Amino acid sequence: MIKLPPASHFINGKFVESSGKYHDNIYPANGNIINQISYGDDALINQAIDSAQKAYKIWRNTSLIARAEILNRAAQIIKERNNDISIMETYDTGKARQETIAVDAISGSESLSYFAAQAMTLEGDFIAFSGENGTFGYSRREPLGICLGIGAWNYPFQMACWKSAPALACGNVMIFKPSELTPLSALELAKIYQEAGLPDGVFNVIQGDHNLGADLVAHHDIHKVSLTGEVNTGKKILSNTADNMKHVTLELGGKSPLIIFDDTDIDQAISVAMMANFYSTGQVCSNATRVFVHDNIIDDFCEKIIARTKKMIIGDPMDMQTQMGPLVNEKLFHKVASYYKLAFTEGDVLCGGDFPNIKGFEKGFWVSPTIIRCDNDNARIVNEEIFGPLMTILRFCDDNDVIDRANNTTYGLAAGVMTNDIKKAHHIVANLQAGTCYINNFNITPPQLSFGGYKHSGKGRENSKYALDAYSQIKSVYVEMDTVEHIY
Ligand code: NAD
Repeated sequence: MIKLPPASHFINGKFVESSGKYHDNIYPANGNIINQISYGDDALINQAIDSAQKAYKIWRNTSLIARAEILNRAAQIIKERNNDISIMETYDTGKARQETIAVDAISGSESLSYFAAQAMTLEGDFIAFSGENGTFGYSRREPLGICLGIGAWNYPFQMACWKSAPALACGNVMIFKPSELTPLSALELAKIYQEAGLPDGVFNVIQGDHNLGADLVAHHDIHKVSLTGEVNTGKKILSNTADNMKHVTLELGGKSPLIIFDDTDIDQAISVAMMANFYSTGQVCSNATRVFVHDNIIDDFCEKIIARTKKMIIGDPMDMQTQMGPLVNEKLFHKVASYYKLAFTEGDVLCGGDFPNIKGFEKGFWVSPTIIRCDNDNARIVNEEIFGPLMTILRFCDDNDVIDRANNTTYGLAAGVMTNDIKKAHHIVANLQAGTCYINNFNITPPQLSFGGYKHSGKGRENSKYALDAYSQIKSVYVEMDTVEHIY
């Protein structure tokens, strides 16, 4: 059973309600109401800012070892609660439990462990200058202040961890606004941080939609904004933070390519292509929705991938055998359905393109995994981010030509190549315009490797030591040990 939070928001170490309107939180598999969540209002925003400001004075001066210990304790508690968090995540998102128990909280926990280790080793430079008395300089990596994390709904718990772990490791405090579609698990994270010893006010959760998000972004006491969301939301946030010169990290959308050469094992290539399109019902930003397959193997590839896709188990997300749940809500369902319709005119629908009727879940937002063979790189289904389980397969013959075609997009989040020729793999990857490239796999996101977009897919990086740059600023200190010459 799902454990529901006692209230909608978590501010200054306490669960609180606001006087804002309540909204139904829906289970996407059957449309039932899970609970109701109040949206934050101006009074709650001020309360959150006030608590974060007070906590910042304590947290920025907390020792690196103490920060790391708290992050490590929280990472451990997350692992112990993986089962409960995965149930919560499946209710909120509709994603199959076999995924949420394997990935969401575990990835969050790994992020906390990784940034605990980074906190222990945060260091600056020392430079000895000339001069008898040893004039020197050094650098300090300092926090930014109050960071605002804004989450999308597809990996809610993971996102709250990926944003808060580097922020807290660097000595910042955070106000986190989850997506209005998935309000639950960030509250669980707040409770876990508290149990791990995080001082009150260091991590606050406030609920609301784009209006509340925009109010928070505009607030002059917020120093940094980290968004995961659509490209258009990213553009709005960039312009809404320009006046105050706020620091910004943007993790945005994608339409990633996967290039499959004829020397690769076809079954492996199919496994990777399916995972890179159908995991989380296709609701993954980095998904390889443009699958370029070499002319020599494309017919065999299509025949085999259709057979395997038709065997996928779609249904009750809580059943551990289920491989694909519903889409997150009605709005996305209608969007994806419109692309399914378009697919019949823009390409050859090899399988799917329809809407399964799941017994006992008639009000859920169900779509079939869909594969389309398409000869036109300019088709809308090939170019636009759909955010559903819709794979397009495109034929290629020439190595250099396929690189240009793969790069022919405004997005640049991820890209992949499947080949046994290691020289070719590195050559291709070196020429792909994407923040994360995969050789012989896809969508793997260990905390040691950075994640983020080229081109319109984003700005800045999450994960890895590079995320520390997104949550800190460098101060140089010049220390004069000699007498300053009188030049005037
Ligand atoms: P969205 O942009 O509609 O919303 C994301 C978040 O931004 C929500 O919390 C929303 O309330 C908030 N928001 C919306 N408008 C805002 C504004 N003007 N000011 C402040 N906050 C605002 O995106 P979504 O539908 O929740 O998520 C799907 C999108 O997220 C897809 O495009 C997907 O590719 C992208 N995504 C990217 C990554 C990544 O790491 N690059 C990961 C997951 C999802």
